[in-house]
Amino acid sequence: MKKTALIFAAILALSVNAKAEKIKLIIDAAHGGTDAGAKSANGDKESELCLQFANALKDEAAKNDIEVVMVRTTDEYKTLSERNNFKPEAGVKSLYISFHMNTESSKTARGAVVQYNSKAKDAAAAKLVAEKLQSSFNRLNDIGTVINENCKAMVIKNSEIPAILIEPGYVSNEQDLRKLKDKGIQQEMAMLIVNDIKQ
Ligand SMILES: [Zn+2]
Repeated sequence: MKKTALIFAAILALSVNAKAEKIKLIIDAAHGGTDAGAKSANGDKESELCLQFANALKDEAAKNDIEVVMVRTTDEYKTLSERNNFKPEAGVKSLYISFHMNTESSKTARGAVVQYNSKAKDAAAAKLVAEKLQSSFNRLNDIGTVINENCKAMVIKNSEIPAILIEPGYVSNEQDLRKLKDKGIQQEMAMLIVNDIKQ
């Protein structure tokens, strides 16, 4: 093969390769069914808000050719192994995202928290995503986003693929709750997440 043909072949191989890396996003809306999770003063359920954020992310990911697997799509209870038994796949960039809502007895606590587990199997990849999300979410809230690298949730800790837990805000805080129920905010957060995982 001539040198120019070789270069052309190399470029072609590179672009084919870049295109071939499929992103697979597993979205877990935490709680559900008999387990409502935390509740706001007015009875808004964490399980329902998690599902709304999960659905917004699913829609946004679908627009961007990202393969999505939803752990649950209705108000139902899922066991731990049903929630995360996902294995790495060759040629696929997998990411597990679990939504929870925060709560605190002190009603002043507010803001987003992004968690991963630094001892989990693919912690380096999770850390990278967590840091991107932190700076993106900071555009959505005025008090900054906290990263916790010591996530205790089993679906994150024992995950075989990079796993992140997102708490967009506190149901115990009035200001946060208003945002959590806002479809516009749900969609904006979904867009920021998709943007970050595509990079
Ligand atoms: Zn929860």
